[in-house]
Amino acid sequence: MKKHQFDASRFRVKEGDTIDLSKISTKGSKEELTKSQSTTALSDDNEFLAEAQERLYAEGNRALLIILQGMDAAGKDGTIRHVMHGINPQGCRVHSFGPPNKEELAHHFLWRPMPYLPARGMISIFNRSYYEETLVVRVHPELLIPQKLPAVKSLEASELQDLWKSRYREIKYFERTLADNGTTVLKFFLHVSRDEQKSRLLERLVNPDKAWKFNPRDIEERKRWSDYKTAFEDTISATSTKDAPWFIIPADDKWYARAAIADIIASELESLDLKFPEVGKEQLLRFGEYIKELQRD
Ligand code: ATP
Ligand code: MG
Repeated sequence: MKKHQFDASRFRVKEGDTIDLSKISTKGSKEELTKSQSTTALSDDNEFLAEAQERLYAEGNRALLIILQGMDAAGKDGTIRHVMHGINPQGCRVHSFGPPNKEELAHHFLWRPMPYLPARGMISIFNRSYYEETLVVRVHPELLIPQKLPAVKSLEASELQDLWKSRYREIKYFERTLADNGTTVLKFFLHVSRDEQKSRLLERLVNPDKAWKFNPRDIEERKRWSDYKTAFEDTISATSTKDAPWFIIPADDKWYARAAIADIIASELESLDLKFPEVGKEQLLRFGEYIKELQRD
């Protein structure tokens, strides 16, 4: 049994909870790990995850889907780099969700993630996801225009309440079918403060090595902070389920967020009790024959 440094239940949003993000700290609690303890915990978890991924692949009947969401510069990319460090790239794939293309817009919003879902034995990480459809699209309802939804008659916020509700419901059913089919779905919200986002965006502007990450849109979106906060609160409250829980991760300290997420994924994989397929008696006898044959060669 692995020793876990973080109590995953502290971050997990229980089904039916109503989330108020202003009441949840963006910093890890002081009594918890120091930065150096976190680094050690992360590298232990990296080792554990690498082995667990091999078992998942060898067993070949279950899968893992990790979803990362957060405001701009919340640290999604760095989390993927550090948490998946050491995992065999053959068993893992990352898909980033930008604005949908024409074909995607012409389909139901849950058509889009289908090709990127993890096959049995595999891990998929979504950097942003179909959840953008109740986040950025809610903050910018004009994004609904090219979707040509028959149910949308007006873009007034009050007229769109039913649409978001039906999207939450559809997402819940969708994730339920994934879970029923053997896919563990873990959703992480990287919770950063507005001040921390400001300093990360400034860093992109003043550090030439980070300038490539700067997108003027980030400045525009930052002005809509409180609309995003509401969209996240409603989305997380409505879609955290036993099958597919949300975890709200304090993310002002990158080292804390990375260690916490790795530890939660490790503990969820541990609870799956993944085993290498057993070699049966008959098969072992045949192995004996193969060994003799190879030795004679
Ligand atoms: P960072 O967090 O480092 O700023 P990023 O995730 O914003 O990185 P980008 O490639 O710059 O990465 O942005 C992706 C953009 O695609 C986001 O602004 C996001 O809101 C947008 N997007 C994703 N899905 C949708 C969608 N369904 N409809 C419209 N926009 C979307
Ligand atoms: Mg961005």
